[in-house]
Amino acid sequence: MIPRSPVRLRTKTTTKKVIKRGRFKKSELAKLKLKLWGLCREITRKKYGNTCYTCGKGPLTGSSYQTGHFITSSNCSVELRYDLKNLAIQCYNCNINKSGNWVVFEKLLQKEHGFTYVEELKTRNLATKGKTYPISWFEEKIAQYEDLR
Ligand SMILES: [Zn+2]
Repeated sequence: MIPRSPVRLRTKTTTKKVIKRGRFKKSELAKLKLKLWGLCREITRKKYGNTCYTCGKGPLTGSSYQTGHFITSSNCSVELRYDLKNLAIQCYNCNINKSGNWVVFEKLLQKEHGFTYVEELKTRNLATKGKTYPISWFEEKIAQYEDLR
């Protein structure tokens, strides 16, 4: 309850400021995440073209032209979500219906990059899962990926 006294105005103003600041922070982070994910998609498309990495279907277009995670985005750390090593082009069926088709994904990654490459991703995911990253981490990652595109 806000007391009906001159204090009321001050309380209201303070509350408003806090809410505003909170909103700003949130939208700023959301914007950075969106930008970073956009770069991940762009770089992954350049690297893999428009053929599904896990089933070979292509050329992919529209909603079937997806960027999929080896360690699924619902199960991976923030770091792995935006890690180019964890990403490849996938069709809708492999990415959505087969939840990333990770058994095939893993075999192909191992074949292409070696066993250590895959194990490093898994180990790093476990080590960084649940970790929160500051806005500066997203900014640095964006700058790094902008140089790669
Ligand atoms: Zn596919």
